[in-house]
Amino acid sequence: MNLLKKDIIFSDVSKLKGVGKQLSKYLKNRKIEKVKDILLNLPYSETDRSKVVNLNKLEVGKIQTIRVLVKKLNFPRIRNLPNKIICEDKTGKIEITYFNSREGYLRKIFPIDRWVIISGKITYFNKKYQITNPDYVTTLDKEKYVKQIIPKYSLTKGINEKKYRLISEQVINDLPEVQDWYEKDFLKKNNFLSWRKNIITLHKTKDSQDNLSKSYKRLVFDEICANFLVLSENRKKIKKRKINKSFKSITSNEIIENLPFELTKGQKSVLNEINIDLKSDTRMFRVIQGDVGSGKTIVSFLAIANVIESKYQCALMAPTEILAKQHFDLAKKIFMNTKIKIEFLTGKTDTKRKKNIINSLKKGTLDIIIGTHALFQKKIEFKNLGLAVVDEQHKFGVKQRSELANKGGNNCDVLLMSATPIPRTMMMSLYGDMDISKIMEKPSKRKKIVTLSKPEKKINELWSFINKQLILNNQVFWVCPLIKESSFLDYSSAKKKFDIINRKFPNKVGLIHGSLNKIEKEKVLNKFLKKEIFILVSTTVIEVGIDFPNANLIIIENANKFGLAQLHQLRGRVGRGEKQGICILLYKEGLSKNAIKRIKTLKKSDDGFYIAEEDMRLRGFGDIIGYQQSGIKNFKFADPVVHEDLFLLAEEYIKKENIDVNENKYAFLLKLFDKAEIINQNID
Ligand code: ADP
Ligand code: MG
Repeated sequence: MNLLKKDIIFSDVSKLKGVGKQLSKYLKNRKIEKVKDILLNLPYSETDRSKVVNLNKLEVGKIQTIRVLVKKLNFPRIRNLPNKIICEDKTGKIEITYFNSREGYLRKIFPIDRWVIISGKITYFNKKYQITNPDYVTTLDKEKYVKQIIPKYSLTKGINEKKYRLISEQVINDLPEVQDWYEKDFLKKNNFLSWRKNIITLHKTKDSQDNLSKSYKRLVFDEICANFLVLSENRKKIKKRKINKSFKSITSNEIIENLPFELTKGQKSVLNEINIDLKSDTRMFRVIQGDVGSGKTIVSFLAIANVIESKYQCALMAPTEILAKQHFDLAKKIFMNTKIKIEFLTGKTDTKRKKNIINSLKKGTLDIIIGTHALFQKKIEFKNLGLAVVDEQHKFGVKQRSELANKGGNNCDVLLMSATPIPRTMMMSLYGDMDISKIMEKPSKRKKIVTLSKPEKKINELWSFINKQLILNNQVFWVCPLIKESSFLDYSSAKKKFDIINRKFPNKVGLIHGSLNKIEKEKVLNKFLKKEIFILVSTTVIEVGIDFPNANLIIIENANKFGLAQLHQLRGRVGRGEKQGICILLYKEGLSKNAIKRIKTLKKSDDGFYIAEEDMRLRGFGDIIGYQQSGIKNFKFADPVVHEDLFLLAEEYIKKENIDVNENKYAFLLKLFDKAEIINQNID
């Protein structure tokens, strides 16, 4: 009886027997919309009802199954007293009690002098064994249905095991075989079951409770592959042929000669990779990954110089106005002695100026445009955009990346700069569609930031320390406790701290917090940049990437509440200038082992990549900065720490196969993990 054709896997749950309006609404609230979601809703435990237990061997508190003879039914005429059914076997007696149940129904399922199978939780009351409102009562001919190890799903409220079983078993017991998208040899080599067998195993054994079991691993692999297929498709779509750029690096070499510093090895090699991409006849789609302060900006400007030399225009986009302005100022300095024309465009640029900029971009009289998201607008057209650079782009998802590439046109190379070092498995799932350049080292002259930790009760020792900094004309960041996702509480704690510090250092303190809008925030940041204030109290993160060359002390309260990577990023805001940077981590007494480890790691290392790996190990990947914001949904099953080998295997698989997602065999997989739509959007 194969009621389930393959198609039903992707139809609405309401198509299943016994799923009415009410139930399907409930299931949808639990994120079970389609039949396939039932398949992917794995049991977290199971209930063993498989063994029939004699009444003299019952264990109180356990769910057990008994086979008993119905002796007597007792329906008290007083309200609120339970109905009782007395049953026995040859070893003892038991009382089955029911609250709120109808007499007629009970008489039907408990026929006197008949044997029945009952399963439920055993209790002991008034010196008697009892089962109250048993989960199952059935005649002996149906005992097989009850005497089983039954999977437990996390659908705690609103739906009981019996009801959910009716639904899930309809699907799982009748699961159709699907043509596997992996070759038989591949399955065998990796010890993977066929798709159908795998799903069944996950639901009918304990495999789902072990994320390293054979069948769990196949599911994880499927999930990673679906994710990588999307990336690979995006890559193919973007890395198309273009007219190669031709230049001799004349301007860029001049710039290099005039820099007050020597480029690091990493900067040189990344620039070289970029140049090769620019000169090739496929489009560049590259991300520079480098720790805070590794000097990505200058690399991008050198690339820009080369693109302009080959007679194309360039655009540089930053996430905030302040950062864009900083880049603009730097660009003006760097290109000072050239004929290169640069403009600045944000949402705030006045209409007249904007009009001029738009015109000259279109005519091709403007070489570089630097700005915010405003560059993305429809009105903006280029004569011949050759390079789009996006800074600090961890807020960009796959879809936005492809939009950006589209906007640039066929000859536009794309370069992203990301200051968030992330572990390799994460890198693969976030940027698997791009080529990756890493800058591993930092400019050698930069002093390592001194990192100290201090219990919060010694906070008073800080005031004189801060005072010394102010006398030296240094600036200070004070980052306030992170209170769980409550911008109001975050605000109030920052506000309180502001009041305290402001009393100690009147007219020198500014406050920035989540409830300020972008413009208000930038106003405060600008005051800080212009040294109108010296101490900046803030809630969580001020934009990364902004250079505050004069800030050299950062104090982070409740440091244990932050992830390692985030602390590292916060720390990276100081020590950007000549002076020694100092980071003080304040903590409350009674740190967890994990928190102590984090603080130790931070004191020991200033290598963002190492810290990111450690962070992932200590906190799990969900907390990695940039992952949440990336707009890419969390993996449901795969864990980049635990399943690193499967990520690597998937990467190899996708590369080797040179997969065409339009090939039908992957359609099922993509649909299963809700990727089909993303891919379709990308194929145009
Ligand atoms: P990030 O990679 O975080 O964007 P930036 O590009 O903002 O870093 O560079 C941080 C600071 O380091 C800037 O002030 C920049 O001028 C300086 N810098 C960049 N490269 C070098 C280098 N090779 N040697 C010394 N200082 C450098
Ligand atoms: Mg930067």
